[in-house]
Amino acid sequence: MLEARALRKTFGRTTALDGVSLEIGEGEIVAITGPSGSGKSTALHCLAGVIRPESGEVRLDGRRVDTLGEDARTRLRRENFGIVFQFGQLVPELSAVENVALPLLFNRHGRQESSRAARSWLERLDVAGCADLRPGELSGGQLQRVAVARALAVGPRVIFADEPTGALDSLAGEQVMDALVGTARESRTALVVVTHDNRVAAYADREIVLRDGAVAGTSTAGASTAGASVAGPSAADGEVT
Ligand code: ATP
Ligand code: MG
Repeated sequence: MLEARALRKTFGRTTALDGVSLEIGEGEIVAITGPSGSGKSTALHCLAGVIRPESGEVRLDGRRVDTLGEDARTRLRRENFGIVFQFGQLVPELSAVENVALPLLFNRHGRQESSRAARSWLERLDVAGCADLRPGELSGGQLQRVAVARALAVGPRVIFADEPTGALDSLAGEQVMDALVGTARESRTALVVVTHDNRVAAYADREIVLRDGAVAGTSTAGASTAGASVAGPSAADGEVT
């Protein structure tokens, strides 16, 4: 469904992605792991059409994403993707509920319907009490949950989440993962989650490990196609060779 081929992306003299190829199936839950600086966020941003790779291809249902102009890419993102960025992305001037309703309004839902749906997503993420506060008035964990509510509200085909539990304690982290994974499973939405956290990777159908901007290994619940020794929960189980 979503496919990346031979992605390359550099920032100045840093090579962030050096030939990454991967595929995300319909409704599949994929964890992208790897050390800090290995290119996880950059890969996610390329897949989600937030940035363009210098070379390589990204396709959604066979249709090129990376070659689209800014406006067309924005439209494609709004219609198909829900994105939880690693670092703050809520609109500071808007309340939490307005932030969650915003993508619904962009997708031409009515004002009342959007607001109602936004409140129910905030409830699901256990931050209904924050609905009328602005991002500046929220804790890191609350911000993260509002961002997750916003990504889920549009009913996307793919949810991208970059370290969604990074700012959370383990209970809140579990709530957020339950909401992400539960929503993905219920609605057959694909979920691509970048994480350092082995427990989060354990939720996934498949784990893709990046190292130095390249895929160092892939593991699924029962099998492995890893070409290199891979650290992580699966390696501990002896599933990755
Ligand atoms: P982390 O786990 O710390 O979030 P990551 O795996 O997400 O790391 P990326 O953010 O993708 O790593 O970065 C990959 C490499 O590209 C790093 O060396 C980083 O310094 C560099 N990089 C990423 N974004 C930029 C940018 N906007 N400008 C310059 N360098 C960048
Ligand atoms: Mg990152």
